[in-house]
Amino acid sequence: MSQRLRPVSPIWVAGRPQHGEEEFFVTHPFDDSPVGAASWATSGQVEAAVSAAAGIAAECAALPAHVRAEALDHVRRRLDEEAETCAELITAESGKPITWARVEVRRAVSTFRWAAEEARRFSGEMQRLDTDPGAEGRLALVRRFPRGPVLGITPFNFPLNLVAHKVGPAIAAGCPVVLKPAPATPLSALHLGALFSETDLPAAMLSVLPVPNQRAEQLVDDPRLPVVSFTGSGAVGAQIRRRVPEKHVTLELGGNGAALVAADYPKRDWAAERIATFGNYQAGQSCIAVQRVFIEAAAFADMADRIVEKVKALDTGDPNDPACKVGPLINEEAAARVEGWIGDAIAEGATVLCGGTPRSGSTLEPTVLQDVRADARVLREEVFGPVLVLQSVEGFEEGLAAINDSRYGLQAGVFTDRLPQAMLAHRVLEVGGIVIGDVPSFRADQMPYGGVKGSGVGREGVRSAMDDYTTERVLILPDS
Ligand code: NAD
Repeated sequence: MSQRLRPVSPIWVAGRPQHGEEEFFVTHPFDDSPVGAASWATSGQVEAAVSAAAGIAAECAALPAHVRAEALDHVRRRLDEEAETCAELITAESGKPITWARVEVRRAVSTFRWAAEEARRFSGEMQRLDTDPGAEGRLALVRRFPRGPVLGITPFNFPLNLVAHKVGPAIAAGCPVVLKPAPATPLSALHLGALFSETDLPAAMLSVLPVPNQRAEQLVDDPRLPVVSFTGSGAVGAQIRRRVPEKHVTLELGGNGAALVAADYPKRDWAAERIATFGNYQAGQSCIAVQRVFIEAAAFADMADRIVEKVKALDTGDPNDPACKVGPLINEEAAARVEGWIGDAIAEGATVLCGGTPRSGSTLEPTVLQDVRADARVLREEVFGPVLVLQSVEGFEEGLAAINDSRYGLQAGVFTDRLPQAMLAHRVLEVGGIVIGDVPSFRADQMPYGGVKGSGVGREGVRSAMDDYTTERVLILPDS
């Protein structure tokens, strides 16, 4: 496949384009061809970015809302104008099928639109205090003030929109940001740095610094960055939490997303289509991909047939092809790991309903398994690959318990059209979000989003992240 090799992308140090100490290629996960290059920020550049962010925090906190909102609107408009180029960049660096890359760009546009709107709306509230004896004659003005510079650390699987979810809310709330993109996919983030350099924001408000993981730890430890907003794996998230217990840390981690299908759910074909698609979109490399599918016994055989039929119909291969539904994993190492987990499950007695064949480079055939042992990694861990595990459950409540039988808790999908079942799911499921009549993979960028248990701490979604990046301070005033 011929790929356009882009010029070396500058890194953004306190808003200025620079080159770092050592260049590295960014390669296409499908065929390993180089698609672009960037450079690692030096320790001097890291220091310059952090000290500039700290030095400018008070100025950023005082920036008028219209200045912050107009800058965010500018970036939104520019992303919209350049949507196709940005989608091609996402596909080139992450291997995401182009149709999904276009969706990611649309979502990033929406994230910045919400950030601009929230920047204008974000204010505070007035509380009356005379509801209790002794507090008559006073009222409280509750406002949120920026905590200071935010360190954003992002994963490879949404190289644009997850960066937007760090940068957009931080700027909307008046916080400088130092953004560390994933080493495999830094190009979209660096391009965002260029779009922000066109705005009227103080230049030092945003730095985009590719750094090796060891230098990222120094950023995590740096007391001048009091907020750490991390999206990535549970292992790294736990390490960050241990390193800096005194900091305000948001962790958006992994999951082993589950869907439950009620026996009398009337739209079985829809459910099968959604499960097949969102077990495999981005080759399963989404924290809210469907992985575990629980089906009430009376519907199991029929649903399994439908799901397998839909999975077999998914086009696998070159992510630049608009027909492609399942592209490569991020690299061969990731594909080999998933292939190994599938092999272990089969060796332990799992039945292969489709797929299960050897990988080709970093590409895996979508795989559907049943009769998987309860302790199999494809069930217990986050598989992060194109694998669905089907299990029969006796009843709806047993299905809810099966969803909860996980060390993760990000989102769950429940295919029911009965309101009492939906309300029960809302009450008992140990997750951050429940999607009724659809897969767990649904996310709208303004809604609160995040997990419990091993899936994280805190919430994203533009307004929720702004709450996280700011702290409440009460002003008690006389009211007489
Ligand atoms: P990862 O944890 O390997 O890396 C994430 C980021 O952390 C990268 O930028 C990486 O360079 C950096 N990093 C690695 N070691 C570090 C260290 N010691 N100190 C500081 N930073 C360090 O994750 P990944 O493979 O890029 O992404 C996949 C994971 O992200 C999956 O577990 C997935 O579920 C999760 N994820 C979660 C969400 C969510 O919103 N909950 C969204 C997308 C992805």
